[in-house]
Amino acid sequence: MNRKTVYERVSFEGVGIHSGERSRILIHPAEPGDGIKFYIRGVEIPASFEYVSNTVMSTDLEREGVTVKTVEHLLAVFHLLGISDAIVEFLEGFEVPIMDGSGYEFYIALKDNIVDTGVYIEPISLRGYVKVGEPGNYIEAHPSVSFEVTYKGSINHIDCGDIFTYSGGDPEEIVRARTFCYLEDVNTILERGYGKGGSTRNVLIIGKEGIHSDEGLRYPDEPLRHKVFDLIGDLYLLGAPIRGRIVSYNGGHSLNFELIRNIVKSLPAVKLL
Ligand code: ZN
Repeated sequence: MNRKTVYERVSFEGVGIHSGERSRILIHPAEPGDGIKFYIRGVEIPASFEYVSNTVMSTDLEREGVTVKTVEHLLAVFHLLGISDAIVEFLEGFEVPIMDGSGYEFYIALKDNIVDTGVYIEPISLRGYVKVGEPGNYIEAHPSVSFEVTYKGSINHIDCGDIFTYSGGDPEEIVRARTFCYLEDVNTILERGYGKGGSTRNVLIIGKEGIHSDEGLRYPDEPLRHKVFDLIGDLYLLGAPIRGRIVSYNGGHSLNFELIRNIVKSLPAVKLL
């Protein structure tokens, strides 16, 4: 596959789901080989596992004391569209706007705004089986020539099965799936200082009586699809598309990050970025 960048600059604005602060980002084209980079208050932060500073509730990056928060949905869309080189400049705020809770708005704005640079990018191929976590809460990565991501885990209150697999088909299978939480956890999340920008407009809130959001389920198994979407975003911190079969059992951002570190350890010493 070839390296791709964006054709025209595109901007997004909205609220950060955890900080509650307004943010405005501008995505610029970049040169082949530059990779995905965040540019904020004069600091350049590569979208790399090496800069991960937090994986609780979101995946955040930090360099020289400057943080960019909640990068996973935008990175998932870049990964799904094969955009390998772009600069994400923060004009305001420091958290990627949550938009409608999914990657759909990023996807729609970017999918027809891509340039194939003609420069080859070598996908990251797993050399062996990698497993992280513990019984009941783990992720396995198997070598494969294809790209396949599965999430397995039960979702409370709604009957949506317990497994979803994305096999590299139409990204619309997952890009519209929104961030979710359980109604009974909302107060705890807010007390801990998270979710300040969350609302019924950008979070799928699941309670005993059903969905407490402005819009009903977009897919019957929307939460499972969002977990796959998040994992695809986190995996892009490897710096290149991955080839392999990944199966997450109740995983989240922290375990995703542990998987990435272990995948890197399992690879021959090559330059990843
Ligand atoms: Zn998410």
